[in-house]
Amino acid sequence: MQLVGFKSFADKTTVPFQEGVTCIVGPNGCGKSNVADAVRWVLGEQSAKTLRGSHMQDVIFNGTQKRRSLSFCEVTLTFDNSSKLFDIDYGEVAMTRRLYRSGESEYLLNRQNCRLKDITALLHGVGIGKEGYSIIGQGKVAQIMNSKPEDRRAIFEEATGIMIQKQRKQEVERKLAASEDNLSVYKQRMAEAERQLTPLARQAETAQKYNEFAGELKYHEVNAYIFRRENAETEKSKYTREMDRLNDEINRLNAEIFNILSQKEQSRSQLDEADVRLFNLNNQLLQYTVGNTEKSGNAKLYQEKANAFKDKLEGAKQDVLACEKRMEEIDHALVECDKRIAEKASTTSSRTGTKPNALCKNQRIG
Ligand code: ATP
Ligand code: MG
Repeated sequence: MQLVGFKSFADKTTVPFQEGVTCIVGPNGCGKSNVADAVRWVLGEQSAKTLRGSHMQDVIFNGTQKRRSLSFCEVTLTFDNSSKLFDIDYGEVAMTRRLYRSGESEYLLNRQNCRLKDITALLHGVGIGKEGYSIIGQGKVAQIMNSKPEDRRAIFEEATGIMIQKQRKQEVERKLAASEDNLSVYKQRMAEAERQLTPLARQAETAQKYNEFAGELKYHEVNAYIFRRENAETEKSKYTREMDRLNDEINRLNAEIFNILSQKEQSRSQLDEADVRLFNLNNQLLQYTVGNTEKSGNAKLYQEKANAFKDKLEGAKQDVLACEKRMEEIDHALVECDKRIAEKASTTSSRTGTKPNALCKNQRIG
């Protein structure tokens, strides 16, 4: 065993254990019990009280009048494992425990960090335990001697290794019970599985059919794909042609649209011109209408005057007719007069023999 900074062992100290009995002899208080404490500690003791302290850090060398305290302690217990005492594949087994004043602790197995559990499991396999009697502390012998025979029997049983066997038996029995529990669980599961076997067989058959159909489907899908791909080439060239044609059509329509737009523009300017002309014509029409109204007023006036002249003319014609008629009457009267004058004259001349002055025929009397 190697100690560094553990209790009174400030310096690195090696305690060799030879074959047979090793005795540590020394005066009171020289540190004999500290060696036993170191063994307990490195084997995993967790009680500070058992280690004769009040805190676990009390096991770290806490200094003397001449020497400063240390900040950590370490104990390593090295076993010769050539006889495979421990169930581990090493010729030597070195267990180390380290403690720092901060409270941090470490366990190592052959200088490799490990858990306390690993060390405990290893020790348990060879019957060393902190509860057992592998380590009999000071005053414990008297206690054993004074105990009841049954208790003493337990101590001897442990010492002779029967305890280990008993513990192993208990362990095996526990495992057996657990296995039996597991077995009944498995049996139940098996019964359950057997019940499900028929529907599962049916499902398996369905699954197999599904796989067959899925394979067939895949085959047809691949074929369909190839077929579609080949067709797609022809379709593509067809669509390309159609697209070219449509592009030409679009170009043609664009040109047409351009023409229509320019025609529209032309028509728009013609329309504007026509609007101007219409406006002018409307103005003229208005003027003509005004002139026309004026002239029709004048025409009416002239008509009335003409009518008045006509009436006068008619009157004059009537007068002329009446005059002509009167003249005819006068002519007739003249003729009558002439006749009577002639008659008178002839009558007179016959009585006097002179010729009468006859009035000129057709002489008008105004
Ligand atoms: P006894 O013969 O009376 O049983 P012993 O040889 O067993 O005595 P221990 O009890 O092992 O002696 O050692 C006690 C000594 O260890 C004391 O002198 C004590 O001061 C010292 N000691 C204990 N803890 C520490 C520590 N943390 N740092 C320094 N010294 C310590
Ligand atoms: Mg002592």
